[in-house]
Amino acid sequence: MEEKNMKFGTKAIHAGQHPDPSTGAIMTPIYQTSTYVQESPGKNKGYGYARGKNPTRVALEDCLAALEGGKHGICFSSGMGSMDAVVKLLKPGDEVITGDDLYGGSYRMFTKIYEPFGIKFHFVNMCDPENVSKAVNKNTKLIWAETPTNPTMQIIDIAAMSKIAKANNLLLAVDNTFASPYLQNPLSLGADIVMHSVTKYLGGHSDVVMGALIMNDDKLHEQLYFILNSCGANPGPMDSWLVLRGVKTLHLRMERHCYNGRKVAEFLKTHPKVDKIYWPGFTDHPNHEIAKKQMKDFGGMISFTTKNATLESTFKLASSFKVFSLAESLGGVESLINHPATMTHASIPKTEREKAGVVDSLLRLSVGVEDIDDLIADLKQALA
Ligand SMILES: *Cc1c(COP(=O)(O)O)cnc(C)c1O
Repeated sequence: MEEKNMKFGTKAIHAGQHPDPSTGAIMTPIYQTSTYVQESPGKNKGYGYARGKNPTRVALEDCLAALEGGKHGICFSSGMGSMDAVVKLLKPGDEVITGDDLYGGSYRMFTKIYEPFGIKFHFVNMCDPENVSKAVNKNTKLIWAETPTNPTMQIIDIAAMSKIAKANNLLLAVDNTFASPYLQNPLSLGADIVMHSVTKYLGGHSDVVMGALIMNDDKLHEQLYFILNSCGANPGPMDSWLVLRGVKTLHLRMERHCYNGRKVAEFLKTHPKVDKIYWPGFTDHPNHEIAKKQMKDFGGMISFTTKNATLESTFKLASSFKVFSLAESLGGVESLINHPATMTHASIPKTEREKAGVVDSLLRLSVGVEDIDDLIADLKQALA
């Protein structure tokens, strides 16, 4: 069967992967090598040096590209490494429009690393596309969108962003980490580049740090691959293999993440101590209709605040779970709880993050794939 005709769950298991030609091994081997023997100078089997290419990584890149419905995939040593490559497409004087609720590390890289190089970032509320249109000027080169956003689960209309990008000759890159390719495929909505922190749902088992970019355009692929090979944020073959293995169950895990996520969101909604809940599946979520249009389901990421909470009471709550673990990161099989203001978003100034709703009483859940009864029981005892 041709890969492009496969359904998602079949691609997750087979795309990019072929039995090993020397032994027939069904699993792609871990090609733990830094270099490849050449027949005569320059005459090789397509592999010269492993910073540029490694067969285990190539299998993963092809698999991730297939899952996003894209032509090319490039893996990086972390999500930040992959974002860094996108920003390196720009030059001093160029401007970027991005959201006011972003992964903390993205905000830190934009403001602390790239602003000093003369790249300007505009942080706007992207829920209303009008705010993005208004921020475009003659220096704008890139729209960087994250949706759902971290941690307040804003939903940004990818098709509307693409319209603005195309009308103004800009690149549109979408951080698709929270949705995973199972829930949302930005290239099909007009994005030029999809970015993943592979560390999260794609890896899925909290044992790898990795990033990826997926794109259709050959020239863009060439430029980004040139940056990978020149700057060297390439992942190793062992990590590539772990993700190849993790991705095989992406569709199964995501089904359960979504099921458990819905149950947890509904439970929180009925709890008398819970104040605000951020989850795009609620019909009163401001962009619920767009979420419904561009996502297959609503995922397992939920943030909430409790009534009359102080920093102290929030810390106490965050430390009182028995099944949810207090930790950074998300998207693994195990449920995690996070305090964005002091953990994932600590690098964003207090006034900036509070504007986006990242207040001291906000907690973020990455709902895992454990038995839902145990997760609800844990929430009950912690909130008691
Ligand atoms: C974790 C994360 C990143 C950064 O990825 P790393 O793999 O940790 O470098 C970027 N964006 C989002 C939305 C994330 O959750």
